[in-house]
This record gives sequence, structure tokens and C-alpha cells, in this order.
Amino acid sequence: MISTSESRHHIELNPKPYFQSKIETIAKEQNAEKITGVSVRLGALAHISPQHFCEHFIDGVKGAIAEDAKLDVTISHDIHDPNAQQIILESVDAAY
Ligand SMILES: [Zn+2]
Repeated sequence: MISTSESRHHIELNPKPYFQSKIETIAKEQNAEKITGVSVRLGALAHISPQHFCEHFIDGVKGAIAEDAKLDVTISHDIHDPNAQQIILESVDAAY
């Protein structure tokens, strides 16, 4: 059985992963040839483990500009953060 929070993040991350489109937009804007690193922060109430996010990410960037990107995941423990429920894209490293 899938819990409510689990299914919520699946809706957010699938089928067209939010980060993939956001990363691709950034890459295009900066004329980047390749995305080499991606830093993401998981909100305290995002209900997703870094490992599980990683699985979504690897799946989501397959064949895309960020395919070989190194993923750096930070976990926030601040439940009062306005972004506590979000998965936040903090920074992107690009190669030109
Ligand atoms: Zn999932």
C-alpha cells in the first residue's frame, strides 16, 4: 500500500519530472553543454528519503542533459520553513 505522502510526491515527480524540465531550462538559458552537478534540498515535510529521491532523479534524467550529473542532496529539519513540504533545487553546475 502506498501512503498519501508517498503518492503525493509521485504526482509531483512523475511523469515529466519537475526537476528535469527546470534543469533543462537553466541549461538552455546558460547555453550549457552538460549539467555536471545538481544540488537539491528536501524539506522537512517533503516525505521523501534522499535514497528514494535519488532513484527518481536517476530515472528522470536518463537520456537528458543532466544524465551524468552528480546529485547532492541536503535534508532540512526545519518544519517551520515555508518550503518545508517542497523539494528545492538549490543549484546547478554546468559545463560549457
Ligand atoms: Zn517515489
